Amino acid sequence: MERTYDRRKRIRRLKKMILGTIAAAIIIPVILSLVLGIRVIQLQHKIRELENGLSARTEEKGEVKSVFAANAIVAASREAASARIVSEHTEDNAVEAQADKTEGKKQVYLTFDDGPSSNTDAILDILRKYDVKATFFVVAKTDEHSVSAYQKIVSEGHTLAMHSYSHKYEEIYSSKESFIEDVEKIQDYLFQVTGARPVFYRFPGGSANTVSEVDMQDLISWLNEKGITYFDWNIASGDAVSRLLETETIVENCVSAIDGKNVCIILMHDANNRSTTVEALSQVIEEIRMRGDSVFLPITDETVPIQQVKAE
Ligand code: ZN
Repeated sequence: MERTYDRRKRIRRLKKMILGTIAAAIIIPVILSLVLGIRVIQLQHKIRELENGLSARTEEKGEVKSVFAANAIVAASREAASARIVSEHTEDNAVEAQADKTEGKKQVYLTFDDGPSSNTDAILDILRKYDVKATFFVVAKTDEHSVSAYQKIVSEGHTLAMHSYSHKYEEIYSSKESFIEDVEKIQDYLFQVTGARPVFYRFPGGSANTVSEVDMQDLISWLNEKGITYFDWNIASGDAVSRLLETETIVENCVSAIDGKNVCIILMHDANNRSTTVEALSQVIEEIRMRGDSVFLPITDETVPIQQVKAE
C-alpha cells in the first residue's frame, strides 16, 4: 500500500511537471510575441514620424527608387511608343507631321517639379533662349509672383501640369478622399488662374512612393476615371538631394542616362534653393542637342507615359 501511494505521488508530481512544461511552452512564446508585437508597432510609429518629418528627403528616395524600376519598363514603353506613332500616322495628318519631325529621334521631356519658385523665371528664360518646351508639375502658391509664373508657363507654350495642391504627403496620402480633394483643388486653382484645365499629374514621391497609406491602385483608377494621366520619370537629375548637387553632376546624370531610351522623361526641380539646376539646364540642353538624335518636347496627349506603378 505504501509503495502504491508513493508511486501515485510520483506520477502526480510527474503530471504536474509535464503540465507545467506545456503551460510554459505556450505562455512564454505568447508573452514574447506580445512584447515583440508592441515593439514593432512602436517602431512603425517612429518610422512614420521620421517619414513625415523628412517628406522632402523621402520623396527623393522614392524618386530615385522609381527610376531604377522605371528603367526596367522603358523597353516596353519604347515599343508602345513606336506602335503608337505608326498607328497615328494613318489616322491624322497633323499627328503625322509631328511624328515625322520626331521619327527616329529620342523624345526628351524636361520636367520640373515643385514650382513655381524664385528660379521659375530663370528656367523659363533659358528654355526660351533654346526654344525648348518643357513641362512644369506645379504645386499651389497664391502669391502674385507665383500666379504670374503659372500664366507665363502656359503663355510660353509649356505644359502646366499638377503635382498636388499641398505637397504634404501626410495629408494627400492619408485617405482616398483627401487625395481626391487635393487633386481637385489644384486642378480648379490652376484653371482659375490660367483659364486652362490641367490633365497631367505627377504623384508627390512618384507612383511608387512608399509613404501612401492608401493603395496606390485606388488613386490610379480614380485618376484614370477622371481622364487625368500621371507621369513618373525614367531619368532623375538627382537635384532633389538634401545637399546642393554640383552643376556638373546634374548635367552628367541627365545626359549619360539618355542612351538606350527612346522616350526620356527627365526629372528636375524648380525650387528656391536649387540654383545648380538652373546652372545645369543650358548645358543639359546643349549636350543633348549636340548628339543630333533627340527632340525636346512638352508632355501632351501624344506622350507615352512613363509609369512605374500601372493600373492593374
Ligand atoms: Zn515634389
